Amino acid sequence: MSHIVKSRLTQAQLDAHWMAYTGNRQFKKDPRIIVSAEGRYYTDLDGRKIFDGLSGLWTCGLGHSVPSINEAVANQVKTLDYSPAFQFGHEKSFLLAEKISEFMPSGLNRIFFTGSGSESVDTALKVARAYWRKKGMGTKTKFIGRAKGYHGAGISGFSVGGIPANRTLYGQGLESYHLPHTQVPGSEFSKGMADIGKERADELLNLITMHDASNIAAVIVEPMSGSGGVIIPPKGYLQRLREICDQHNILLIFDEVITAFGRMGAQTGSEAFGVIPDAITMAKQVTNGVIPMGAVAFKQEIYDTFMDNGGPDYMLEIPHGYTYSAHPIACAAGLASLEEIKQQNLIARVKDMSPVWENCVHQLRDANPIITDIRNYGFAAGITIAPVDGEPSKRPFQIAMSMWDKGYYVRYGADTIQLAPPFATEKAEMDSLINALGDSLQEQN
Ligand code: PLP
Repeated sequence: MSHIVKSRLTQAQLDAHWMAYTGNRQFKKDPRIIVSAEGRYYTDLDGRKIFDGLSGLWTCGLGHSVPSINEAVANQVKTLDYSPAFQFGHEKSFLLAEKISEFMPSGLNRIFFTGSGSESVDTALKVARAYWRKKGMGTKTKFIGRAKGYHGAGISGFSVGGIPANRTLYGQGLESYHLPHTQVPGSEFSKGMADIGKERADELLNLITMHDASNIAAVIVEPMSGSGGVIIPPKGYLQRLREICDQHNILLIFDEVITAFGRMGAQTGSEAFGVIPDAITMAKQVTNGVIPMGAVAFKQEIYDTFMDNGGPDYMLEIPHGYTYSAHPIACAAGLASLEEIKQQNLIARVKDMSPVWENCVHQLRDANPIITDIRNYGFAAGITIAPVDGEPSKRPFQIAMSMWDKGYYVRYGADTIQLAPPFATEKAEMDSLINALGDSLQEQN
């Protein structure tokens, strides 16, 4: 089905924008143009209301057009629109750093600001290498990522990431090796964390045997893989990774660009799964997606290592940063967003409602033989669809388009449909989203 008003844009205008992570040729034949957003709904050019089934791009857990965030941003633009990020500061970055620390696990209280999740990953990896060099262990430069991991679109993120399509086209960047993913045969349709699969963490021991811990700077994983298909860690898996990293003097980085600030029904994935890493990367929900911003929380000992080995105090302790690090408007948006999450007690709400969400998404199983797996945690779910004709992405694409036509935005990636409703989503909205998805799946039979 195509839409009534395809676009007010000319073909030349459509062609001028090389869109990110988009099938440009298909989109420009059938543009899906969003004109406004409020609460949990978008409005498209036809004036149709569309439920936001992925909270933007895992960004807008608070929904859209939140008055307190809008006001904070508007005031900040009028007061201090930009402030140089290097050698000078503004108050809000310090306030936000302290506020972020309150959401982080104990000890991860030194916050470096970036402009995005990809920059946060790059920052964490650079700091890991530099940290070992500062400690006289400069051979520790290799990284361990995980199959199906997504760590942003930078060349470092693609190196440690494990999504084949992202890696094959660009070649290797940083020297990186990969753990197997944790979608273990027999764990399909597990609710929450699977009971099996923990032993996949022991593959790290094999990689250490192969490369030696003296050459490995860090392991980086998403506590819950988002873009790779909403892959939930098996019980005990992250604990085992932590144990091995400790035994071999390897830093453990959690990429929490999706999982920090409530999505898991906890302050972080670290809190949800009970494992504290050495650094946490974040972005997206920190400003509710309103203004681009990322950050990395480091444990204090890492920060102190740089301070203690920084030379004269007017010298940089680390030559690293971005023009938009701690951008004042992003900081204002971040302060308002995190305050709103607290005021509305949304993390507890996600936790309380996640069994309702779990029941809802798992209801799809019986009705649809083309579903080969359903995974969920907090307010996230991934549904694996059996492929047709060796084209694993085709059905998920068609399902997502059918959902759009029905008034629901969902994400498709590889062989999955991914769902992440806003934190205040009502049960009735969950039901209607899942019913619509059931109908779109039926169209594939
Ligand atoms: N890391 C993870 C886990 C992500 O999910 C993403 C984006 O989806 C990124 C990093 C990259 O973030 P950005 O697109 O803001 O650079």
